[in-house]
Order: sequence, then structure tokens, then C-alpha cells
Amino acid sequence: MKKEIIYLIILVIFISLFGLLVLKKQVKKENTNPYQEFNFYKESNLERYKKYYLNNNYSYKDVVLRVNMNLDNSFYTNTKEINNFDLLMLVNKYNYVNNNFKPTDLVKVSKFAVNNMYLNKTCMEAFINLASNALKEGYNIRAISTYRTYDYQNNLYNNYAKKDGVDKADTYSARPGFSEHHTGLAIDVDNIKTNFNNFENTNEFKWMQENAYKYGFILRYPSDKVDITGYMYEPWHYRYVGREIAKIIKEKNLTFEEYYYEYLDKG
Ligand SMILES: [Zn+2]
Repeated sequence: MKKEIIYLIILVIFISLFGLLVLKKQVKKENTNPYQEFNFYKESNLERYKKYYLNNNYSYKDVVLRVNMNLDNSFYTNTKEINNFDLLMLVNKYNYVNNNFKPTDLVKVSKFAVNNMYLNKTCMEAFINLASNALKEGYNIRAISTYRTYDYQNNLYNNYAKKDGVDKADTYSARPGFSEHHTGLAIDVDNIKTNFNNFENTNEFKWMQENAYKYGFILRYPSDKVDITGYMYEPWHYRYVGREIAKIIKEKNLTFEEYYYEYLDKG
């Protein structure tokens, strides 16, 4: 009888200890910050992460990335001015350049382009290389829109907004300052014969799908990433990011935003 009481006491002690351990673990879990484990975590965004996590169905990692991208704010709000040219600069619906901004090393595109097209020199050389090799294989890639000034974009956007209304225009045209074409690192292409709107249905598009990354270019506005880029699918718009990054972006099926905020963002 005595023995049994002792066993019982020992059992109770064990159960209590176990319970204490579970409780301790739970308290610890509630006190840890699950966003902190990512190296792109920003302390200043913590409240935004918490709110975004509650209101959406994303993993902690995606919450941190998307809030850093500013996706918890509407497009064109909480925007940031980008002052310096950089081959890996990000201009999108949250990051803009002012009307005096000019890309470094702006040069005229010497071949494979309609008249008076300008690009950053590194981007231009990569494009000529791309278009030359495409031509050797029988494909015509031509630049039809490259660097745009603020004033040019201003006119373009205002005309679209007048024609289609602001909401519709915003899905396909950037507001002045917010266009990637300001960077001198973006190119719209066609195949000479077909309107660029139908570029997706050309063999040149297929060639670009398979080869553009080898020259450092990415398809900038893919069909499955509209929620991130804020732009409808644009099979004709390519961005120069260099060969190494273009390869990763293609292999991992990322947008430049996703790559930028995971690996490049220092702000
Ligand atoms: Zn474009």
C-alpha cells in the first residue's frame, strides 16, 4: 500500500514537470518574433508584418518580403525616391525617379532598333549581342521603345488616362517617374512584322523565352505575378539585370521585386 502511494506521488511529480515544460515552451513561442529569422527582416516594419499576417494567408517569409516590397500599401502610396543610377536599381509603383533623373552612360542603340532609341551602354551592348545571335538563328528582335524621359512618359500616361481612365491606364502604363523605361535598362521589342501586342504569338517570343536570360535580360511583367508588379502581362518588355541574376530569376520563376527584396535591398 505504502509503495503504491510513493509511485503515485512520483507519477504526479512527473506529470507536473511535463506540464510545466509544455507551458514554458508555449510562453516562449508566444514571445518569439517569427519574422526575425529572415535576414531581410526590418525591425521598423514589425507592426506591419503582424497586421499583414493576420489579414492574409501568407507564410512568415512571404509576409516579410511582401511588406518590405510595400504591398501592404496601395500602388503609388508610401513611395520612395531613388536618386542614383545603378545597374540593379528598382523602379516600380513604389520606387520612382524625379524629373531630372538621367541614367549613366546613355548611348544610342546602334542596331536592331527603330530610330532614336537610347539605353545604358552595358544594357545596349548586351541587347546588340542578343539580337545579333537571334538573327544568326533566323529571328528578328527589334527594340521599339527603350529609354524614356519624364516628359515623354508624362504625355504617354496622360493620353492613356484620358482615353481609358486612370484605373485602366494604371494596369498597362506607368505614371511619370515610376516607369522602368526611365532607367535606360528596359526594352520593349517586336519582331518587325507583327505588332508588339501580339509578340507573345511569335517565334521570336519563344526564342526570347529560351534565350534572353543568357544575355542578362528578364521578362519583367509575367502573367502570374500581376499582384506583385502591378502590371498586366507584357511579353514584349524586358529588363537588363546581368547574366548571373537573370539566370536565377528565370530558374526560380521570380520577379525582379522578389529577387531585389530577398537579396539586394539595403534600405
Ligand atoms: Zn515597356
